[in-house]
Amino acid sequence: MARYSGPVCRICRREAMKLFLKGEKCLTKCTLERRATPPGMHQQRRRKVSDYALQLREKQKARRYYGVLERQMSKYFEAAARRTGVTGEALLQRLESRLDNVIYRAGFAKSRPQARQLVGHGHIQVNGRRTDIPSMAVRTGDVLGVRESSRADPLFKDLQTWAKSQSVPRWLQTDPDALEIRVLQLPTRDQIETQVNEQLIVEHYSR
Ligand code: SF4
Repeated sequence: MARYSGPVCRICRREAMKLFLKGEKCLTKCTLERRATPPGMHQQRRRKVSDYALQLREKQKARRYYGVLERQMSKYFEAAARRTGVTGEALLQRLESRLDNVIYRAGFAKSRPQARQLVGHGHIQVNGRRTDIPSMAVRTGDVLGVRESSRADPLFKDLQTWAKSQSVPRWLQTDPDALEIRVLQLPTRDQIETQVNEQLIVEHYSR
């Protein structure tokens, strides 16, 4: 399945939730705050929502929030279901530990799509080695940074300033001056700030 390339605010309207896909604009000129109706012609009608529809919407919401394709999402679920412990928490932990998400959470990108692009263009290194795989899972103790050859780029000067103004989750430690992120631990459920109800996603895949 191809990656969606249409208007991104439409996705937030569809999910009735701010997905922060446009960086700074989401904080100042959010479309959803002005136009909270779902996209399409017939969305004003009231209709009874089935359990299946609720579960499906929650899964789609998570996919779009983290920028993950359907096949990858179902693989994450299968891996989470094989782990001991709570499946929903394991699923969210895997999504959170994606390299592009970590770059975003650390404030080194203004949106997940931008973080994905930084990784894809080869600007990021993990433990001193260049990587261009946004879905790579980070591990406890990993040190992420911007490659030496990319540091002079004005984009990173701007992101350095941005990173200094961002609050960082407890499971990460950042040094914006050195453009460095350290993964202190993988996040527990209470450290994951998201409006996604992972239980509904588990129910969706367990049908
Ligand atoms: Fe979503 Fe950002 Fe558009 Fe608001 S501005 S609707 S958060 S993508």
